[in-house]
Amino acid sequence: MPIPHLARPDLQLQTRLLHAGHAPVFDGGHAVNPPLVRASTVLFDNVAQQREMRARRADERLFTYGARGTPTTFALEDIVSELEGAYRTKLFPTGLAAIGMTLLAYLKPGDHVLMSDSVYGPARALTESFLKPYNIDCTFFAADGSDVEGKFRPETRLVYAECPGSLVYEMCDLPRIVELAHARGALVAADNTWGSGVQYRPLALGANISVMAATKYLSGHSDVMMGTVATTREAWEPLATRSDGFGMTVSPDDAWLVMRGTRTLAARLQMHERHAMVVAQWLQGRPEVKTVFCPALREHPGHEIWQRDCTGTNGLLSFELMPGTNAQSVDGFIDSLRLFGLGASWGGYESLVTEAHMQRARSVADWSQRGPVIRLHIGLEDPQDLLEDLCNGFSALQP
Ligand SMILES: *Cc1c(COP(=O)(O)O)cnc(C)c1O
Repeated sequence: MPIPHLARPDLQLQTRLLHAGHAPVFDGGHAVNPPLVRASTVLFDNVAQQREMRARRADERLFTYGARGTPTTFALEDIVSELEGAYRTKLFPTGLAAIGMTLLAYLKPGDHVLMSDSVYGPARALTESFLKPYNIDCTFFAADGSDVEGKFRPETRLVYAECPGSLVYEMCDLPRIVELAHARGALVAADNTWGSGVQYRPLALGANISVMAATKYLSGHSDVMMGTVATTREAWEPLATRSDGFGMTVSPDDAWLVMRGTRTLAARLQMHERHAMVVAQWLQGRPEVKTVFCPALREHPGHEIWQRDCTGTNGLLSFELMPGTNAQSVDGFIDSLRLFGLGASWGGYESLVTEAHMQRARSVADWSQRGPVIRLHIGLEDPQDLLEDLCNGFSALQP
């Protein structure tokens, strides 16, 4: 029996405290943005409705319990599905949780997974900490995909790619990898944090599953963590079953923040791209720099694939200092920067710097003979100020 959402002077105070304030109090229009709905319990009008909702929720997205999402998280799921060109999307507390759940959903003991040499470091770490103990074999393939064909096995169930790759943005021919995988009955998942659904869209290139750390550009303000997994209709069921089975959900407050970030995502990326290109071209002219890594540069390996498959670049760029650069002076370079924050993660409005430990980050590619690599995230500051800051950094470097 629904309790009428009205003042009930006949009820005791304790009861009135609990039941007051639920009536819709506004006459008039409605806000631009969806409301923030926080919920654990969801109430039904009668038993028949509750029974019907429970019967339908395996296939349909219904508001039946907080762990399965609220209208706020559903709204964000729809925005991400729109970005990714996906059938549906699930949200996770972090980008890493989204990666972990993808591996859990599509792999079982005895299976084999092919992982790109360029994957995000903690995803690589999952091969030792989780896959191996659960008898799921993992082989790394070259970040450009050149050796992937020969690495398939009869039990290969999943190819897990990241394009452009973490730290130095290697490009692979994803449609070609998809063709090889699908011909062998394997699915393809891609980490799409770099492209964030604006600059790159793995599902449009044939992948079945796309993972993003919404912590980065979708949120855009360095104040919230979240991960997303978007899939095609055919690939949806294992993800939905695992995710619901493990009780995976996100706070609607966090979802609301990420949703706010998505409204300016494309506009911010355009500005990150413009500023990053100014810095990238300036770095290419510095005598201390051996290589600048950014797929939008003509000299970047796989630049033609970037031209074909991406619609732009973002604020990320890395550079290799001349081999033999004094390691302590690299610390001095970083410490002397005033506008670049020293920290992991990226995708916020601000510029960041961190050293990229390439030898640790790759097992197929050999980085032992190369110079130190520094990763920058170019934020929305005026790029001229950033160049001056970097100039100061370079004066701290010693050969
Ligand atoms: C940051 C990042 C993740 C993980 O996201 P978190 O929200 O920090 O867990 C995954 N993939 C890539 C490529 C990333 O850069």
